[in-house]
Amino acid sequence: MPIPLTVLVVGAGVAGLAAAGAMDRHGLSVDIVERRTQHPAGAGLFLPGNAVRALTELGVGSALSTEGVPIHTQRLQDDQGRTLAEIDIDRLWQGVGQPVGIAHERLRAALVENLRVPVRAGVTVHALSESESGVNVEFSDGSSGRYDVVVGADGVHSELRRLVNPHAEPRYGGQVCWRFVTGNRADIDDWTVWLGRGATFLAVPVGKDRLYCYADLSTSIAAAGAQAETPLAEHFSNFDGRVRDLLTRPGAAAAHFSPIEEVTDPTWRTRRIILIGDAGHASSPNMAQGVAMSAEDALVLAESLCGNGEIEQLLERYRLRRLPRTRWVQARTKRRDSTRNMAPIVRNAVLRLAAPRIYERDYARLRALP
Ligand SMILES: Cc1cc2nc3c(=O)[nH]c(=O)nc-3n(C[C@H](O)[C@H](O)[C@H](O)COP(=O)(O)OP(=O)(O)OC[C@H]3O[C@@H](n4cnc5c(N)ncnc54)[C@H](O)[C@@H]3O)c2cc1C
Repeated sequence: MPIPLTVLVVGAGVAGLAAAGAMDRHGLSVDIVERRTQHPAGAGLFLPGNAVRALTELGVGSALSTEGVPIHTQRLQDDQGRTLAEIDIDRLWQGVGQPVGIAHERLRAALVENLRVPVRAGVTVHALSESESGVNVEFSDGSSGRYDVVVGADGVHSELRRLVNPHAEPRYGGQVCWRFVTGNRADIDDWTVWLGRGATFLAVPVGKDRLYCYADLSTSIAAAGAQAETPLAEHFSNFDGRVRDLLTRPGAAAAHFSPIEEVTDPTWRTRRIILIGDAGHASSPNMAQGVAMSAEDALVLAESLCGNGEIEQLLERYRLRRLPRTRWVQARTKRRDSTRNMAPIVRNAVLRLAAPRIYERDYARLRALP
């Protein structure tokens, strides 16, 4: 029996947990560290069919059914709540996976429960040196280890990315956003968006009487701080009454604010370090492909590391297999984001006329296996 590769995963977000689980099940020897001891609650996720398919393969399909809410339609409206289009996503993702809305912490918990190796919480990498024969790692708790491969799943502000390419900083994507979860008194039963000029409000059911709300605003980076200072409700004061009502709910005042950033550098690896998830290819959430791409990364990485060849070749094979798909998502996302600042009269007419075709064009390619 060949000795299994030893792998360190840095970061226990969705990407890291998924990768650790997939590699463990492929017989690799896995350690996973996470610098936080507690994760903030309060965000929700919309998971399209390809995310559900990948997460099911990773072993958390039943949690998606029990904890998530099936989403059948994506309802696009103008800022006054007038319908522009209704996308039948059961049809769009037929044979791939049933899209769901789910609380971020429920998905994370399901991935942790599914994992057979413990997450070393409150631990980070203190020092790391890579040689031809392995990677020596010193941890913040004073322990150390030697690994064949280190996986950087440490998110958009990845420290491991600095080792891979110190110039690959995340870039501001042109929007700031707020997120919160509240009760669903509004009886919103599907993915529902209100589109204004340079402003979006989205509501997605994510559990019994739980509604995830996401609001964003196009703005320059210089003005982002001032936007954060203004109460969220003021930014949306000319929107439909349902939005204004949601913004008076508990949770809205404490909404989590952040700029949206993207990572487009394709370097992704050294000889023995590989970046996955947001660390490698974060993008704006317009296509809601973050979890899908992370879970697919995990499956493809585990499979790649079980192939034949030198580690560097295996990592390069992984990179070449994942780049076209993640680039496609980033390019389509960028294009969709660019319509935010279009005159609403033009954008609304385009959506009334062509939204189902736009969805088909943007997502059809993702129905194929990664
Ligand atoms: C506003 C917004 C809305 C989104 N909505 C959706 C959506 O609806 N659907 C969807 O699919 N995706 C969505 N996404 C994207 C999605 O959340 C991510 O792509 C996905 O969760 C994968 O993230 P990750 O695990 O790569 O990174 P993260 O979630 O950032 O996890 C990284 C982990 O690494 C840890 N870490 C960081 N540095 C270190 C270190 N040095 N040592 C140890 N640990 C470290 C962090 O504490 C964290 O736990 C959204 C993103 C944003 C910003």
